Amino acid sequence: MTRPQPLARLNPIYTAMPVTVFEHMSGLARSLGAINLGQGFPDSPPPAALTAAAVRAMAERSQQYPPSAGVPELRDAVAAFYDRTQGLALTRESVIVTSGATEAIAAAILAVVGPNDQAPGSEILLLAPAYDAYAPLVRRAGGVPVFVPLAPPGWHYDEAAIRAAITPRTRAMIVNDPLNPTGSVASPDELALLARLCTDHDLIAICDEVWEAVRFDGCTHRSLLAQPGMAARAIKIGSAGKIFGATGWKVGWMVADAAMAAVLAKAHQFLTFTTPPMLQYAAAEGLADPAITAALHAEWSTSRRVLIEGLAREGFAVLESAATWFACIDLAASGIALSDRSFSERAVREAGVASIPLSALWEGDGGLETIVRLCHCKPPTMLEDAVTRLSRWRAGL
Ligand code: GLN
Repeated sequence: MTRPQPLARLNPIYTAMPVTVFEHMSGLARSLGAINLGQGFPDSPPPAALTAAAVRAMAERSQQYPPSAGVPELRDAVAAFYDRTQGLALTRESVIVTSGATEAIAAAILAVVGPNDQAPGSEILLLAPAYDAYAPLVRRAGGVPVFVPLAPPGWHYDEAAIRAAITPRTRAMIVNDPLNPTGSVASPDELALLARLCTDHDLIAICDEVWEAVRFDGCTHRSLLAQPGMAARAIKIGSAGKIFGATGWKVGWMVADAAMAAVLAKAHQFLTFTTPPMLQYAAAEGLADPAITAALHAEWSTSRRVLIEGLAREGFAVLESAATWFACIDLAASGIALSDRSFSERAVREAGVASIPLSALWEGDGGLETIVRLCHCKPPTMLEDAVTRLSRWRAGL
């Protein structure tokens, strides 16, 4: 009789899969006591008004299952927030609340990917570097991720390259704008191009816009959903965690044309089904108060400048960026002859600073191995300390 091997009965995709680069680097930072500029999260607590709203909602409102699509207050607040900040005319029927944007991405992918008339498997275009959850989720849904590499320093969308990747099996593209990890932002022309590609080829756009409120230097957010022809074919994903600097809240949402939102809600109902109601009520209050987001934005603008200017002063080549909590360093241009992965693995141990290697967010051809990402939504003194540590360490390489 063969020995029972329960582990061998598990899905080999997960048996063989490494933990995410974010978990890996945060784990190293915790165990080594390093400054964690890897995984993106602020160190300061979320705005006091938001915490107070959550505590109040916990004490005074329901802690039982809310409606699967979200409490009406939050669905209305998301619609009103997008009307106020992005000029989108939406109603609550268009908003499905999820347990974080990652669940929204999963639900959107599950709702889109499926058997295709022309060939087995739906192809989903991913523009690389791409958030690490996209490709595994596409595969788990039965689809095939097709990577189209973007190139530094601008990370621009190349029409010929995207058209060349589109086949009769292509169902959708995932567009992360602003783009994590690069902090780059699609230009109006690029948004028009992406919309044209979607309408020409009858594609759904899964728009991961979680960084929409984290934009700097006066650059405002434009949603792909607002482009001509996109209202009925875009699924716009947002995140209270990013908007309020409260990443552990795991409150996100999908926004789509009401008919499409009703289908998305069915994919969501068998993932997490609902999201903690007290956090939903608090997020609704926060979205209605522009002073909360303005204060956070001012804080993040300051810390961003501290990191970018500090790195530049110490001779690190920082790539241009206009959004997100991240700045990227070009190692080769900084005179550092290490691959991004060995930089990140060594810097956390030897310099005491955690970072994210960009190649961890890349599969297939065209991968770059000379860029690392650093998170800047941290106290300025911590960022100064990190720059000093990196600079001293580099001098001894
Ligand atoms: N979005 C976060 C980042 O880019 C990571 C989230 C996670 O750890 N899964 O840093």
